[in-house]
Amino acid sequence: MSSEVRKFSVSTQTTAAFVSCDKRVFHVEREDLDRMTHFMPPPNAFIPPAPPPKLLEDSYTLELLFRFVNSEEDIDLDRPSFSTVAALAEAAQKYQVYSATTVCRQYMKSQAKAHPVEVMQYAAKHDFRDILDAVAPYTVGTAVATMQEILPDHYLIPWVLFNDAHQQAMQAMVKGQFDKEVLHVTQENMKYYWTDPEEVWFPPPKEACGLGDKQQATWDAIHKRIMYALVSTGGQLDIFGALSVKDDMFARLESCPYCYTRLFEWREYAWRVIDNKIRDFTSFL
Ligand SMILES: [Zn+2]
Repeated sequence: MSSEVRKFSVSTQTTAAFVSCDKRVFHVEREDLDRMTHFMPPPNAFIPPAPPPKLLEDSYTLELLFRFVNSEEDIDLDRPSFSTVAALAEAAQKYQVYSATTVCRQYMKSQAKAHPVEVMQYAAKHDFRDILDAVAPYTVGTAVATMQEILPDHYLIPWVLFNDAHQQAMQAMVKGQFDKEVLHVTQENMKYYWTDPEEVWFPPPKEACGLGDKQQATWDAIHKRIMYALVSTGGQLDIFGALSVKDDMFARLESCPYCYTRLFEWREYAWRVIDNKIRDFTSFL
């Protein structure tokens, strides 16, 4: 049995009816449909008892969609779940509901970090290049099998190369920081201090470490957290390079200007690696 929803529940001479996949009937002004969308006018709509066309979308999605068709202004996309708005975004593209497409596009872009795989799928399907570039860094480290499922074929190799570029940059970053046995000399081992002549991005220290005997433990703790962020994301470098270096890490190094500056400089170095080695995803297409 079909059930009717409160909104769009009144059938008149000027409305067209649609049925959602969960069997709710929507009556939408034909004039709005003509103006706002590429909905096909249902054939024989005025000749009862022709059944209204069944759409593949569910009633949540269609109610939102038809509210856009209806030119409602106070549609809050933060209220429904991501999956509902993602379905709306697809429906808006499918039926070319112009009032919804732009809003949905902005919404999907804003969800790049929270829902990278779904947003990547949406952006690839519609070739929204600005969204592809925004979301691709958050898909780094995702299983290739997963990406194969959601990406059209011609996007897969570019994605693999993009992902690999992150792995290469990650290695460069790790070598820039984690290869050093001695981060900073203590008073006792100062004369044995060894520096890499190629490591021109940061000069050797002139004074003993202000962290004293806590030096190793402090750096070990910081490295552990950065490495965890890195490995657990499969090498998402913007997280690794920028976000994983937290304020509290700097706070722990405040008693040693050298160590403090070293972490700061390393973060700058990480950003340079990203800038030099990482091109936007769409440049791989
Ligand atoms: Zn130090």
